[in-house]
This record gives sequence, structure tokens and C-alpha cells, in this order.
Amino acid sequence: MTAQFPAVLPTYNRIPLAFRRGEGAWLIEENGARYLDFTSGIAVNALGHAHPALVQALSEQANALWHVSNLYEIPAQAKLADALVEHTFADTAFFTNSGTEAAELAIKMVRKYWFEKAANRPTILTFEGAFHGRSTGAIAAAGSEKMTKGFGPLMPGFKVLPWGDHDALRAALDDTVAAVMIEPVQGEGGIRLLPDQCLKGLRELCNQTGALLVLDEVQCGMGRTGRLFAHEWAGVTPDIMMVAKGIGGGFPLGAVLATANAASGMTAGTHGSTYGGNPLACAVGGKVVEIITADGFLDGVRHKAGFLRQRLEALVSAHPDIFEAVRGTGLMLGLKCRCPNLDLVKAAQAQFLLTVPAADNVVRLLPPLTITEDEISEAVARLDLAASSLS
Ligand SMILES: *Cc1c(COP(=O)(O)O)cnc(C)c1O
Repeated sequence: MTAQFPAVLPTYNRIPLAFRRGEGAWLIEENGARYLDFTSGIAVNALGHAHPALVQALSEQANALWHVSNLYEIPAQAKLADALVEHTFADTAFFTNSGTEAAELAIKMVRKYWFEKAANRPTILTFEGAFHGRSTGAIAAAGSEKMTKGFGPLMPGFKVLPWGDHDALRAALDDTVAAVMIEPVQGEGGIRLLPDQCLKGLRELCNQTGALLVLDEVQCGMGRTGRLFAHEWAGVTPDIMMVAKGIGGGFPLGAVLATANAASGMTAGTHGSTYGGNPLACAVGGKVVEIITADGFLDGVRHKAGFLRQRLEALVSAHPDIFEAVRGTGLMLGLKCRCPNLDLVKAAQAQFLLTVPAADNVVRLLPPLTITEDEISEAVARLDLAASSLS
């Protein structure tokens, strides 16, 4: 034991708050202080904290069976896969425990696809500002200095393009490109929305060259934008998609969804996971998917999103010294700040409102999809006080 070194590896800059309970959109400290949670565990607690139906699904499964190996049939996993196939472009799903693991499989699936075709297509195109996780593959994919420095040699096979540069994309997307991997809405990158037209254009370019389109919907998926998946707004579909965060509602669960064609190389023995898709995770994930896809749920999200957006636009107009603009879509919104974004996060925290910083001097607002209009009004009132405290 070295006294100076923290028992928890000090890779996080933690905020000195420790919550003991969660109730819907609220997090509660030991001393009873209540914080309005516009982070949702970074888009994880999509249905808020301690949603009764999720608590029930988890408890029932915990009483029956926690874990069995993927050596055996897992009915809850098959049921969740069926639900995802029914509601999306996908023909098939593989379950992971995180977004990073989903990114790893997406990369492997792309490589295996071209290997089976005996084609030499070594490059996956990615975009500056991207975030796909923290594994060696995922940091190489995103390529930013911040994530890769000191961790070389980096995994080869990625080419990082500037965000929004159509000419650079067209020039790079030749027949050595295996796939294009992109977030329809960049989360960590600062709530940067890929316009529907651009996603459509990207789909067409991929069709022309045969490159697979891989969408990372780990943060923007599972109802966050008001559709089950963000790409639905553009009316196009990917070949492969990474999902995580919201799908488990707080239980570690991720997935790779794919078309039969894109997944065709992934035969028995080519990939696996000990925990991926275990009964506990799939019991919860199944309930999350059931709730989000129930009649009217996403209509409600879109309605509330419109209300929040309108209120935020008014907030930005009222504090032009603090805010530059509102960004994003659905309940994945960002306030582009003129003050340092961390100052606003701290000022909001002083008003018992939790928000998340992102790159590009943005403060992210990621309320649970179950947020009420009253809670939205309360949050905007608190942001107003926070902004006034900084002026
Ligand atoms: C969070 C995130 C990941 C990584 O997910 P983990 O569960 O943290 O491994 C990947 N891609 C995007 C877009 C994310 O927001």
C-alpha cells in the first residue's frame, strides 16, 4: 500500500457529491438535499431513477436467475433481440456490457465482412470530435490527442476526417474504405448534430462505394431524440449500429445491431462475451424497450423536447452574455456558452441542478425521457438563476 496513491485509480475528476437515492428525475444526498438530474448518468437513466417497472423487472429476474453462460439459451436475450429486430432496421443483435464493447464488435464486424469478401479495404473513416469509448480500438477510432496521448502505438486502420467537411469526405471515401463510423449526434463532442441531409448523402456515398455505414447511437439512441433511434429522422438506415447507455436504464447493457449482410462474417466462435446479454441485463433492457416503444411514449418525448427547446431559446435570449445558442435535438440539448462551460455547470449545481459539460464549450442537458413539464420549467428557472449569478 502506498499512502499517497488513491485506492480508486485517480482517472476521474470527481465532483464531491455522493447520492444515496434516486427518484425519477431527482438525486438525493444523504443529508436529504435534492438535485434535479439533467445528466441521467450521461443519457443512461433514460427512464429516470428507480422506475417502478424496471425495479420490478430486475427484482423478479434477480429472484429467478442472475447469470448463465452464453453456452446456453437465454430466453430473455432472445426476446430482447426479437424486440430490437422488430423495431429497427436490424436483422440481428449481439449484446455487450457497454458502448465501448459495442464499438469493438462493430469494428471487428466490418473487418470480418471485407475479409470474407477477400477485399483489401483496411480503412474505417471516422470524424473529429467523435467519442466511441476508451478501449484501444475506440480511442484509435476517435483519434483525439486527449484520448490517445501516451497510449500508442495506436491501432491502425482509421482515418479521422474533419466534421462537416463534405469535400474531405468525398475525397477520402474510395474503394479502400471498409466503413464510415459516425454519431448522428455527437455527444461528448459538444452536441453536434449531423443534419438529416448529410446523413442521407453519407448513405448514398456508402452505397456507391460499398462501404458499410456504422452509426454510433450509444448516446443519441433509445428515444433520446424523440425517435427510437436518431437516424430515423433522416429516413435512412445503417448497416451496423452501436447501442448502449439508455438501453439498460442504468444496468450495464449494450448491443450491436446489424443487417444480415453486414453481420454475415460473424459465425459461431468469431466473437463472444461472458456477461453480454445475461438474464439480469436483458430482463431490464427488455422492459426499457417495451416502455420506450409503447404507444404515445415517443410522442410525449417529442412534445416535452419542444417545450424544453422553446424555454431554452428564451433563456439564451435573456442572457446573451452567458449563452450563444441552443444546440441538439429532442432531449439531447446543449447550451453553447460564452462563459467557460464549467462555470455554468458549477453555478447550476449551486442551484441544485445537475448538467454535464461537453467539448466545444457546451453544457449538455440530458434529462430522463420521463421528465415532466413542471420539472422542465423548474430546471430552466434554475438555469436562469445560475446564469444571473455569473453575469
Ligand atoms: C458513452 C459512449 C460510448 C462508450 O460507452 P461506454 O458504455 O462508456 O463504454 C461510445 N459512444 C458514444 C457515442 C458514447 O456516448
